[in-house]
Amino acid sequence: MATHLPARQLYYDGQTQASTSNKTFPTIDPSTGAHIADIHEASRADIDKAVSSAERAFPAWSATPAIQRARILQKAAQLLRDRNDEIATAETHDTGKAFTETSVVDVATGADVLEYFANLVGGGGLNGETTQLREDAWVYTKKAPLGVCAGIGAWNYPIQIALWKSAPCLAAGNTMVYKPSEFTSLHGETLAKIYTEAGVPAGVFNVVHGAGDVGAYLTAHPSIAKVSFTGQVATGKKVAGSASGSMKYVTMELGGKSPLIVLSDADLETAVDGAMMANFYSTGQVCTNGTRVFIPRAMKAAFEKRLLEKMQYVRAGPVMDPATNFGPLVSRVHRDKVTGYIKHGIETDRAKLLYGGVGQPANLTPELKKGYWVKPTIFTDCTDDMKIVKEEIFGPVLSILTYDTVEEAVRRANATELGLAAGIFTKDLNLAHRIIDQLQAGITWVNSWGESPAEMSVGGWKQSGVGVENGRRGIEAWVRNKSTLVDMNGSVATAFAKL
Ligand code: NDP
Repeated sequence: MATHLPARQLYYDGQTQASTSNKTFPTIDPSTGAHIADIHEASRADIDKAVSSAERAFPAWSATPAIQRARILQKAAQLLRDRNDEIATAETHDTGKAFTETSVVDVATGADVLEYFANLVGGGGLNGETTQLREDAWVYTKKAPLGVCAGIGAWNYPIQIALWKSAPCLAAGNTMVYKPSEFTSLHGETLAKIYTEAGVPAGVFNVVHGAGDVGAYLTAHPSIAKVSFTGQVATGKKVAGSASGSMKYVTMELGGKSPLIVLSDADLETAVDGAMMANFYSTGQVCTNGTRVFIPRAMKAAFEKRLLEKMQYVRAGPVMDPATNFGPLVSRVHRDKVTGYIKHGIETDRAKLLYGGVGQPANLTPELKKGYWVKPTIFTDCTDDMKIVKEEIFGPVLSILTYDTVEEAVRRANATELGLAAGIFTKDLNLAHRIIDQLQAGITWVNSWGESPAEMSVGGWKQSGVGVENGRRGIEAWVRNKSTLVDMNGSVATAFAKL
């Protein structure tokens, strides 16, 4: 990676724009701690300009036939795929996630969602319904775009999150002002330029950079019709509170503390692989992570033995190396937070440390030692009241909990205010369906973990979120309904007049 990349500017009116704040903030490569780019910080005047740009673009974009919008967005999906490796490289240096991940997941799953929503609206997915009431009267409905929408992203899947928000937003005829996380801002300008190159008109997709105050200004802005937010539960509550001031639509994709339940008949290899995927992929920085791993008491020893044997396959190293599948955490602040949880697990919760612990992986080069690395960590003999079991850590920390009956496992799995994801490993599919039905979570898997294709609507229950992204239901979050009753003979009005 070049030691220093060009500064990233704001984007509105179809082009990059220097910030008027005269302030920038740094982007750090978390694998080495190196300062790799400066990001222009938006002033309130800049945010107002970006919102005005989106307002001016809305009438023409919303009136553009859906099939024409679809063609433009399909072209953008192709451009993303053509530049997969270049964008994935930037995402790897921005987030610290290994290139073996970003090159096959981050850009690809974003482009898939763009293609999905382009095809959905191009194929009539925004059509309303007609209901015949009487011979001479019927009701028809229309799905109308909302207007200018705000997208606010987290740092774990930056370009994917930007695409999961902007794809349905733009496909439905809305315009967007998007704010990436201040920790991972490199992708915003790249995506905006790709949209412009594909033919998205000026002002339809705009980017402002900055920290929480920029997000807060956007969520309270009177010209914003909807806020789509991905981040922590506590921030989501602030955003929803602020949006409620002018009754904005909201979608909230928030945190989780998800249960992964292994049943006694499960294939041991698949269950161990599933638990590793659900805790160490993206260095554990995945909202749907299955961090509470419930194991039948009789299976515990065999499960732990195989898990420990397989931990050699979690390999820290240079983030562009094809052999590396485990990167650092995204920032120094987050490294310190996750390390604090590991310490708490050892010293205060007194869980049994099975693997890892405080500190960096052993094999790091002197350059990498300057980065924000932690060890993949496994605790066992955990209990439900431990802090490491109750709170979202958002790092590579797996907790093993044992259970005696399936009913007990389900009850304990549900005993949380969060409800993002859950999953079961078993060969008994009848039982799997019965248990899935009882689990209080919006995203569930059977004998799998983490896969989230464009066709699958995803969103949390309880405090993990409001609404869904993706799938056919995902488009509904970006439109409002208009119902029209047509009476050909005016018979109801006439009947009233005759009373
Ligand atoms: P945060 O809640 O800290 O931040 C999310 C975004 O909100 C950032 O862009 C942040 O800006 C911005 N922000 C902060 N304060 C405000 C405010 N008052 N008003 C408006 N915007 C604000 O989350 P993280 O970035 O730490 O992301 C990790 C969290 O995201 C985890 O809890 C994870 O579970 C969740 N997540 C959920 C997903 C889902 O689909 N359910 C997917 C991915 C992550 P800045 O950071 O620049 O200060």
